[in-house]
Amino acid sequence: MSHTLILNGRVVSPTGVEAADVLIDGETIAAVGTPGFFTEAAPTAEVVIDATGKYVIPGGIDVHTHMELPFGGTFASDTFETGTVAAAWGGVTTIVDMAVQRTGESVQEGLADWHRKADGECAIDYGFHQIIGGVDDESLKAMRYLTEHEGVTSFKLFMAYPGVFYSDDGQILRAMQTASECGAMIMMHAENGIAIDVLVAQALARGETDPRYHAETRPSDLEAEATHRAIVLAKVAGNVPLYVVHMSAGDALEEIAAARHMGRNVFAETCPQYLWLTVEETLQRPGFEGAKWVCSTPLRSPDDEHRHHENLWKGLRMNELAIVSTDHCPFCMKDQKELGLGDFSKIPNGIGGVEHRMELLYQGVVSGQLSLERWVETCCTTPARMFGMYPRKGIVAPGADADIVVWDPDRQTTIGVNDKHHMNMDYSAYEGFVVDGKVDTVLSRGTVVIADDAYVGRKGHGRFIERELSQYLV
Ligand SMILES: [Zn+2]
Repeated sequence: MSHTLILNGRVVSPTGVEAADVLIDGETIAAVGTPGFFTEAAPTAEVVIDATGKYVIPGGIDVHTHMELPFGGTFASDTFETGTVAAAWGGVTTIVDMAVQRTGESVQEGLADWHRKADGECAIDYGFHQIIGGVDDESLKAMRYLTEHEGVTSFKLFMAYPGVFYSDDGQILRAMQTASECGAMIMMHAENGIAIDVLVAQALARGETDPRYHAETRPSDLEAEATHRAIVLAKVAGNVPLYVVHMSAGDALEEIAAARHMGRNVFAETCPQYLWLTVEETLQRPGFEGAKWVCSTPLRSPDDEHRHHENLWKGLRMNELAIVSTDHCPFCMKDQKELGLGDFSKIPNGIGGVEHRMELLYQGVVSGQLSLERWVETCCTTPARMFGMYPRKGIVAPGADADIVVWDPDRQTTIGVNDKHHMNMDYSAYEGFVVDGKVDTVLSRGTVVIADDAYVGRKGHGRFIERELSQYLV
């Protein structure tokens, strides 16, 4: 077995920062020792990485991505190959992608399809959640089977997108009851899609067709209402663990906080776009440019009475928000976002960001919104625990997979299509952002995949992770 040593760095975990050296044996972390402890081993190590002045953190885990998602007559523009290379560039060593069951398809076919897309393509490890697009006897049976035999232990439902992914309250309740019985997690896109569709039709009838109306027809009230309803249904279904995805609104967050205050297994994630981007600077740009930032839930105004951005940062500190993911769902402007020229409701929904989460959230550390430990907790450790991958993933500790990022706090990262940009998109949602900190070296299961500003990994290195039940429940 080959040995790798990471020397002189500061290892960050949710519980602290300490000077330590890391010894890797093959694909696994063999030991974490006080500085100098492995000096004798250094001459026999195949790879020695000097992390002087740098942080050594667990590889990032992005638990919400959509590679090759079919949406609105097109497909998300990153394949598993391009998307996982971009993820590696961003210090991400595991993604959990959303396998899709479309209405009329069987769940098993949907999952098999996702395995076909990803198998042999990925630069880093990957797991799947399963989207249930049609709740019926067969799909409920499949949920149980996937949980027990396929390493897919979380299921995503939609209160939005009627006619596409939407489930009504009765269907949601049934799926929640099944998940409750087999110990699985329910993930929820919480927006009242029936009401939104009325507002969209009314806006279009008034001739309001520009991208800005995407946000105006999805008010935060309808995110908060759906979040509340999901929480109630989860209780009625036997207290099934509930995880609300891509939370964008302060008023929705209050619903999560209230449920958590009651001791419920109710969790939520947010994404960098909701923390850093405002509707004024994006969707409200003149002409069609705002289409770049059409995603659901929508970007919001920081001046709103619910102080969305401020409250999301606070929620992250207070563990009302447990995780930061990206909801990575890239579409190019050309031929894809352009499908919605003259009708905002036809713009494919999604923003690409899998490459930038670690650096954008580190900027929260620099600006004093988040501690260094909390950065690692929300981006690396809790994602592993929430979705049944701990302690194999999410921590720099003996026995864990050697998924490690060496992070340089003294350098900067400039984001933009002509700067750092490896996603398969013809624009960047964060064009011109200059953030402190930089991915220095990335290891995936002991193999260096990013070093010296180059991708040195290999297609097919990434393996499918069979996940266990959530390890985060009270
Ligand atoms: Zn999503």
